[in-house]
This record gives sequence, C-alpha cells and structure tokens, in this order.
Amino acid sequence: MQGAQRLDKIHESQTLAITAKAAALKRQGIKVLSLSAGEPDFDTPAYIQEAAFDAIRAGYTHYTPNNGLPELKDAIVKKFREENGIDFKPEEILVSNGGKHSIANFFFAVLNPGDEVIIPAPYWVSYPEMVKLAEGVPVILPAGWETNFKISPDQLKKAITSKTRVLVLNSPSNPTGSVYTPDEIRALCQVAVDHEILVLSDEIYEHLIFDGTPHFCPASVPEFKPWVFVVNGVSKSFAMTGWRIGYLAGNKTIIDGAAKIQSQMTSNACSVSQKAAVEAISKGVGPLNYMFKEFEKRRKFVFESMSAMPYVNLKAPGGAFYVFPDLSRIIGKSYKGAPVTTINQFCEILISDFRIAAVPGDAFGAPLSLRISYATSMEVLEDAMTQFKSALESLE
Ligand code: GLU
Repeated sequence: MQGAQRLDKIHESQTLAITAKAAALKRQGIKVLSLSAGEPDFDTPAYIQEAAFDAIRAGYTHYTPNNGLPELKDAIVKKFREENGIDFKPEEILVSNGGKHSIANFFFAVLNPGDEVIIPAPYWVSYPEMVKLAEGVPVILPAGWETNFKISPDQLKKAITSKTRVLVLNSPSNPTGSVYTPDEIRALCQVAVDHEILVLSDEIYEHLIFDGTPHFCPASVPEFKPWVFVVNGVSKSFAMTGWRIGYLAGNKTIIDGAAKIQSQMTSNACSVSQKAAVEAISKGVGPLNYMFKEFEKRRKFVFESMSAMPYVNLKAPGGAFYVFPDLSRIIGKSYKGAPVTTINQFCEILISDFRIAAVPGDAFGAPLSLRISYATSMEVLEDAMTQFKSALESLE
C-alpha cells in the first residue's frame, strides 16, 4: 500500500520517536536513562487535578465553542495583561489541542504555496515539517554555540526575500535553552516589521528562565503587535503535557482563519482540560515555585558536569530544561576501533552501551550537537552524567 506523496516530504518527530524507543526498552526491563523527553517529570499539581474532577462532575463533558471556553479565554486575556502588559481581546485568542496544534493552525492559516518561513536553527523539530505540510518553504538560518545559538538582525535581513511571510522566534529555546534579551528581540522584530513579515513567537518556556533575563513578548510593543502571533500553553509551565492545551493570540482575521481550520480538523480542545487550564492560568505559576527551584538545581548540576567533560563545547543555557552541547570535537575519534562519523552514531552508542537516550542534534538542524533534557530526577541525572563522561572518555 502506498501512502500520499506528502508523507515523503516530512520526517517523523524525533523527540517523540526517541522517547518512545526509551519507553519500549524500559518495558523490556532495560534500565534506560531517558533524557529525551521535553516534559516536566512532575505530576500536574493537585489543585489543577481537582478542577478537572469538578468539571467532569459539573457536566463539562460536551463540546465547547470551537475556539475555546469563554472563561478560559478570559483567563488568557488576564494573563497577557498582567504578565506581559498586552491587551488582547477574547476574539484574538484561539485555544487548541496543545501549543503544537496552535502552531500548525497558524501556518495553515497564513501560508500560501511557496511562501517562505525563516526558522533560526537549532529549531524545535516540528517547525520545518509543519511549514512543509502547509505547502510553505522553510528557510533555515543557522546559529552556532559560539553565539549562544542566537541569530543576528543582519543575518535575518540577508535571508529575507520577496516570498518571506513569517519569522519564527522561540525564546527560551527548545532545544538550546538560549534566551534572547528584550533588546535582541526588539532588534529582530524591527527587521521583520520593517519588511512586513509576521512573527510567530513561541513562548511555551516563558516561565522557565534561570539566568535573570526578563521574558519579553514582542506583542507588548504597540508597533509590533499587529504583526506578532504569540503561542503559549500550559504543558511546560504547569506540568500538563498530557492535557493538550495551547493557545494562539494575534490579529483577529488570522485567528478566525486558524479557528476555521481547527473547526474542520479537531473541533474544540478537550473540555475537561480547558477547565483545568482555567484553574492553572488563573492561579499563575506562583504556587509552582518548587518545580522552578528543582529545575534550577538540575540545570546547575548538568551544566557544571558537562562543562567539565572532554570534547564538550557548551555555554550556560538561560532557560527551558535542555542543554545542547556541541560535540564537533568527537567527529573522527573512534569507539571500539570504529570511527565515529556522526552525532547520530554517537547517540546510538549512548543508548546501546551507556543506557542514555538523548536526541541527536540533526533533528533540530544542528548535526554537531545533541539535546539532553534535565526534566528528570537528580538520581537519573547523576547516573546519566557519570555514564556520559564514560562514553566520552572511551573515545580514542
Ligand atoms: N516539545 C517536546 C520536545 O521537544 C515534546 C515532544 C514534541 O512534541 O516534540 O521534546
């Protein structure tokens, strides 16, 4: 049986594939140190769970309006006003089945065939694939570890053509953990807006910044606001990955377009999850400081451990819960007598001989790095750092 041609144009999500591989090995009783999943290991806080139970009992078991429950949109409007200093109206918000769905809806709503989307690399695995599915053309702008994986306004200017429609920004970044300063975001958005290019600002890691850089949403600048679309959600900040609630905010015409696509693809996001998200977003991240403190501790441990290892090039990641070491210096070394020619191959060695599941940088457009998620227990991280060091030291 032959599938559609569009299947040949895209790759499967490597973050999901490797996480599934690690889970399958664990089910066989093999002890895998899984550093692949980009999700908090904490359970959803009890008060949010309670809100979901209450919602079921109160009969929130039916369809909701396609674009989201009014009380959830109100909570999101309030969040934007209080945390980001932005006045969005409820009709400028679309609630979807996770931030991933919000991003897909956005691309389907704005791209015509052949429109170019500028994506700084390293990028989150799904941006280019979604752009291709929406018949757009991903234009990758690479940035190396030396610049902390950040692109410059000059680099952006040079990449713009008459076909450029969107610039994707993701700060804090998955997979690098890099955080753009407010001035850096302003400078990049100024270039985009001067060229009448839309900015998709993926802010899903907004509340996970550890180096003191203030989070900055470009929609808070009145001149930029008409061009900016903000994506956020409850997955990472509230440990709610499985509940699948994300949202998109921006110009009403495009939001209506994205809602039209959603109305034909999925309808509303899960009613019970939406009620839980109302509770999460209304209470804010204040009650979750314990998670933040724990991530902060793990980040310090992993960064310091990796920085002391041979071959590793790494700057401190400012946010998210990833480290993204550059391992270009291992290329050409050998392991058990065979040359190591790619980081993908090193990741295979890591999982088969050292029990570590990490995602090769290739999946993020950075083939000389790999991604480690520290959203797992200190116990696992301590074991993993020892194993990772042994793996590097076994190279000759
Ligand atoms: N965003 C997370 C990650 O990068 C979850 C998996 C996915 O949807 O890619 O690991």
